[in-house]
Amino acid sequence: MTQKTLPFSNEQIEAIAQKYGTPFHIYDEKAIRDNVRRLQSAFAWAPDFQEYFAVKATPNPHIMKFLAQEGVGADCSSLPELMLAERVGLKGEDIVFTSNDTPSSEYVKAKELEVIINLDDSSHIEFLDKVAGIPEFISFRYNPGPMRQGGNSIIGNPEEAKYGVTKEQLFEAYPKVQELGAKRFGIHTMVISNELDPNYFVETARMMFELIVELKKTLGIRIEIVNLGGGIGIPYRPDQEPVDLEYIGAEIKKVYEEIIVPNGLDPLKIALECGRVITGPYGYLVSRVLHKKEIYKNYVGLDSCMADLMRPGLYGAYHHITVVGKENMPADFKYDVTGSLCENNDKFAIDRMLPKIDIGDLIVIHDTGAHGHAMGFNYNGKLRPAELLLKSDGSIQVIRRAETIDDYFATLDFDVI
Ligand SMILES: *Cc1c(COP(=O)(O)O)cnc(C)c1O
Repeated sequence: MTQKTLPFSNEQIEAIAQKYGTPFHIYDEKAIRDNVRRLQSAFAWAPDFQEYFAVKATPNPHIMKFLAQEGVGADCSSLPELMLAERVGLKGEDIVFTSNDTPSSEYVKAKELEVIINLDDSSHIEFLDKVAGIPEFISFRYNPGPMRQGGNSIIGNPEEAKYGVTKEQLFEAYPKVQELGAKRFGIHTMVISNELDPNYFVETARMMFELIVELKKTLGIRIEIVNLGGGIGIPYRPDQEPVDLEYIGAEIKKVYEEIIVPNGLDPLKIALECGRVITGPYGYLVSRVLHKKEIYKNYVGLDSCMADLMRPGLYGAYHHITVVGKENMPADFKYDVTGSLCENNDKFAIDRMLPKIDIGDLIVIHDTGAHGHAMGFNYNGKLRPAELLLKSDGSIQVIRRAETIDDYFATLDFDVI
């Protein structure tokens, strides 16, 4: 059971809401930094461990900047994400480019920045060679297909996933890039998403370490960096436990000593590209109750909507809700908590037991620090909200302003008549 607490007092969040207006996402810098340090210390044994933050989770340069101060790199998969990493001051091998279905302009930029390019398919070897040239350091994304275990409802079974190359293709791909001038090699996989069982990550490491030994034995290819992807889950529900990062680190160390060391492949750099577990639990969507409605069910309408947080509407995902100031009241009212889209799945919660809600109440939706604001959209003319940072010194910084009507019209070439 995790206690779903807030990093601010009720008076503080009410004052912030008054000053900046709702809705907004707010992120807790200190908690994010502490958590990253915990991840790094779980892998302190590993030679040159590197976390590349999956930028898509929270593509805000202010967050990427303080993560960079903690030694965190960036995992990008598009041109704007590469440019964000560049602006933050990340360079070269601080950045990994794990894209798929990639346009040439993105490979050109990735090559120019000398980032680690992680190819999603063998057919991209020729494509990359033609549009930008094969870099000295190159990595491939491996799709293990049917696995003993692994795969879940979000990412699907690896066999059904569009990502990566098969084992057979992998063994043809390395010699091919070697012929084209590559001299240093990486390997990557990402087979699960939002997984709470730490053993999946240990098993993934075992699978990859064994593969690395096989690549060395059969092709003489020495892998320099193994990227185990992201996918570490977070406890969205109060009855879930956070993943034991120390356990993952310690168990992967055992497998490293069992497989990598005796085969003479130490040092091997271990990388992760986690997004969700880095920022997810440390972001909150703060919104106010606009309306209450009682028909066949009881509805609470917020001043935010699915455009501010898509996960509940998209996946039926659970996000915990706190009614500010009513934390200790009994949750004896059943509500659907909705946004204002003309879409019936625009609901943050369905049949949720909550304390009695009144118009004007401040509502905090938990765990919006990853894939929250980032998934926002403008459907129904909705404008994306601001992002605020609760800084380590306790002050508040607006790290992205709310969109305005002018932003909405900015892409329309239409003169007012
Ligand atoms: C989304 C993604 C990640 C991050 O996944 P999380 O679940 O946020 O840890 C890492 N790598 C790739 C290639 C991804 O697409």
